[in-house]
Amino acid sequence: MDKIRFFDTTLRDGEQSPGCSMSAEEKLNFAIQLERLGVNTIEAGFAASSPGDFESVREIGQKIKNSTVVSLCRASKNDIDSAVKALFDAKNWGIHTFISTSELHMKHKLQMEPNEVKSMAIAAVERAKKVTDNVEFSPEDATRSDPKFLVDILSETVRAGATILNIPDTVGYTTPEEMFELITRLKNEVHNADKVIFSVHCHNDLGLGVANSLAAVRAGARQIECTINGIGERAGNASLEELVMALKTRQEYYGFECDIVTEQLFPSSKLLTQITGVDVQPNKAIVGANAFAHEAGIHQDGMLKNRQTYEIMTPESVGVKQTSLVMGKHSGRHAFKDKLTSLGYTDVTDDVIENAFGKFKVLADKKKHVYDEDIIALVDDSLIIDNKVNAINLKSLKVFAGTGEPQRAEMTLDVFGEVKKASETGDGPVDAIFKCIKKLYPHDVNLQLYQVHAVTEGTDAQATVSVRIEENGKTTVGQAADTDTLVASANAYINALNKMIIKRTKTAPEMQFESSKGENQKLKGI
Ligand code: MN
Repeated sequence: MDKIRFFDTTLRDGEQSPGCSMSAEEKLNFAIQLERLGVNTIEAGFAASSPGDFESVREIGQKIKNSTVVSLCRASKNDIDSAVKALFDAKNWGIHTFISTSELHMKHKLQMEPNEVKSMAIAAVERAKKVTDNVEFSPEDATRSDPKFLVDILSETVRAGATILNIPDTVGYTTPEEMFELITRLKNEVHNADKVIFSVHCHNDLGLGVANSLAAVRAGARQIECTINGIGERAGNASLEELVMALKTRQEYYGFECDIVTEQLFPSSKLLTQITGVDVQPNKAIVGANAFAHEAGIHQDGMLKNRQTYEIMTPESVGVKQTSLVMGKHSGRHAFKDKLTSLGYTDVTDDVIENAFGKFKVLADKKKHVYDEDIIALVDDSLIIDNKVNAINLKSLKVFAGTGEPQRAEMTLDVFGEVKKASETGDGPVDAIFKCIKKLYPHDVNLQLYQVHAVTEGTDAQATVSVRIEENGKTTVGQAADTDTLVASANAYINALNKMIIKRTKTAPEMQFESSKGENQKLKGI
């Protein structure tokens, strides 16, 4: 059976989207999850775009062994040299270079003639080919380019050594039928088309990213570029989990295999949500909270008789574990440790287990049912505390809320070893809490996101709070869980601040990034 290769660009295109920026450490953790998921290629970033991106691409290239790691590059000497410098001693790596080919982009963005564009593409591919066999070329805005020019430039880049031709629908403009026709034509007319891999990169502006990618596959594409949760510029990219499960669930129709470990789809989605603080909508296919929920009575009845009546794939197959009632207040340390192992926490330290177990006991006292999700939230919370030497710690919090008087918070914080107290009123209890923190540790950050999620159902559920803050262009996301939403809010904000304090010290040295003709605008990918 023929294979479809998955090229994940969550760390490049996805990371470019508003609210989804990640630290180098977060990118590396996510890359490790992508490798576990079995993606063939990880686009780790855009090495030439900033010193931070360069360093992150290099780190990921060093760490990842099974997937191929690539960096995006404009069709310029400088970009390709930066990417090569970042990746040359990685285990498996490649270069992905691009230049715009639509009349609109060539005229208004690049201010170049088609022939100049073609020469730059050829030169870029030739330069990359000198150092690696894995050279991918993308004609940006391909779906709005003159197909004749596409055939010409793609043929020339194949002659120059490109091994993968990626056709981006940069602005999410095309339709499935049109994509099918375009790929069919390119496969017929491009020089040596049968010796290279055709790839697609579809955006979701019309909600057609996945459909367009599948149409391309039907026409002969064998690589799909996509992202977890479908994040990416504007309306995002084709979503990896949807593509994988479409190919798998309808394998008798498509007839393709892939290397993706489907049970890792949900964990990958979850990890991304955790890192960015950006949730998927509940009705999101495959990974949304309701994707496997059966509410209607008649459906539930059918499900009980035979799951296949209303289920085309099982939640287990995408890594969604059935919520199970696991432990109560009488569960001991040993059972707790076993539970952690079964949830995949195999290499956590004794300190983390001890910390999480203490919190579990407190939680089991407060809450009738303790679910897997609760325990996961507790351990993750303990891991955050374990991994960082916290500059700021919450010692105590009292909140006065309700009708009739302004909401007030009284707080004691340990700030760099000094215990301080404050009391503040605010527009609501959360505002009062954040004001206390600001008073005890003066700082100037923008609060970009404040989000509360219930970990399980019921009014006694734990709340996980995500807070994203921004300071001089750097962002951090803090998270915390507690049955008391207000305590979780305070801890999440403090967690984000502690991360920011660490981030402030990690200022990368200034590097000069030259720009060549037509490329002096803000760096953006395909
Ligand atoms: Mn894109």
